[in-house]
This record gives sequence, structure tokens and C-alpha cells, in this order.
Amino acid sequence: MALHKDEAIVLFKRAYGESDRIMRLFTLTSGKIAAIAKGASKSQKRFSNTLEPFNHIRVEYFDKHDRGMVRVDNADIVETNSGIEVTLKRACIAGFFTEFVDRFTKERERNVDLFYVLKEILEGAKQRDFPYTDILYYELRMLDVLGYMPNLTACVYCGREMDDDKKLYFSSERGGVLCPVCVKSLPHKTYSEGTIPRLVSVGNNHHGSTFEVRDGGRSGPLSPFLGESPSMDSKRFEGEARHIMEGFISFHLDVELKSYRILKGLF
Ligand SMILES: [Zn+2]
Repeated sequence: MALHKDEAIVLFKRAYGESDRIMRLFTLTSGKIAAIAKGASKSQKRFSNTLEPFNHIRVEYFDKHDRGMVRVDNADIVETNSGIEVTLKRACIAGFFTEFVDRFTKERERNVDLFYVLKEILEGAKQRDFPYTDILYYELRMLDVLGYMPNLTACVYCGREMDDDKKLYFSSERGGVLCPVCVKSLPHKTYSEGTIPRLVSVGNNHHGSTFEVRDGGRSGPLSPFLGESPSMDSKRFEGEARHIMEGFISFHLDVELKSYRILKGLF
């Protein structure tokens, strides 16, 4: 039985039997793993509130065959979840993105980028209530690092490049935009002019440090779609963007995320 040392974010925890705890951890080097902590509720000292959802921890665990459930031997805190409990919205946002990671990943699939995106989200959610565009931005970033990014630049069926004013049709099934020709024979939804280009712009740019990091410090010309655009009502954009993302995500997962239903009610 090998002892592993890793960093992890606690996705989920529940009681098991009298004193054990079962968890799903998203580890830095091994992706998602199922774990059990024996006697976790009795020995408060040993794991004193370490194994709580949204915590970033250092963990030592025993792994029998590189599969199945691992046994947590030791854990300590790198970053607590403190701050997330301050508002219902923060808790729901943290819950939504941890469920997102949990549902979109298979066990033992390493994804270092995803680990750091989730960490960034949880750190943000400890400090502020995200506006809807932040949620959208992080949904797109997660889809990107998971390899599920919808194609928003060229027709997903024939590959034709399209001007922004022609990007009106989105297919959840095909995973991207359709051109005016392909749209005639394929199922799709139609959106207002400007919605899809603006979705691209939200995915590419994030206010604050993320924009700097993603673009290597360059501050290029800002998209005309960023921020309040007089040509496009923000509320309508949010409603349509939400519709696109909900359709796309639930198509790929087959079900709606439980946490999303609650989160949706808060906007
Ligand atoms: Zn086409």
C-alpha cells in the first residue's frame, strides 16, 4: 500500500457509519479521488475541520491499487473555506462550481489547470458575491480546460468562418454556432445579434488579474462588447447567455446540476 502526498480541494463530504467520513477530493496531481477518513468525527484533533467542502488541503493518503477509495491518513489546511459561508450566494456559487468539477471529471484524471481554476473561483467566492458575468466567465473557462469549449467562432458543422453579426444560431447538440446555411437542416436556437460575440468576449476577458494572466500582461484593445454596451441590453444578454450555457451544459451532462437550480434563483 503506497502512501501519497498531494494537495486537494474538498468537493464533497458526508458521514459514513458512526465516525467515518467519505469525501471526494480534487487533487492536484491525480484528479478526482474518492476518499475515506476513518474516525474523522471522533478524533476532532486529528482532522479538526480540515476535511470540509471548499477547503484547500494538503493530504496524505494510502492507495491500495491505484483505484477505488483511498484512505486519508493525514490532512492539514492550506486555505480554509472561511468567507464562503457569509452569504447564500457565495455558498451556492462554491457549491455549483465544485459540483461542476465533480460531474465533468472522471476519477484519477489529472487536470492541473482545472485545479487552479477551481481554486481561483473559491478564493474569489470567499471575498465577494459574483455578478452573473463572473459565473459565465468561469463556466467558459472550466469548459475550456475540460476540453468541452463550445465552438463560437466558426460554423460547427461546415467550418465556415462567420462575421459577428451572422452569429445568431447555436446548437447544444453540435456544441457551437451554426451558419445561415447549415441552420436550415439542424436543430438549433436563435439568439439576438451580439449575444454570441459578447459571450466570446466574456470568455476571453475577465476584469482584474485574470485578464492580465491570460494575456500574458498585454492589455490589448478591449472588445466593444465588454461592459455596458448601448447597443445591447445587459439583461437580455444575460438571459440569452444563460439559456445557451444551460442548454449546452445539461446536454453534455444529461442532467441539470442540482446546485445550479438553487443558484439560478438568486439572480
Ligand atoms: Zn455551416
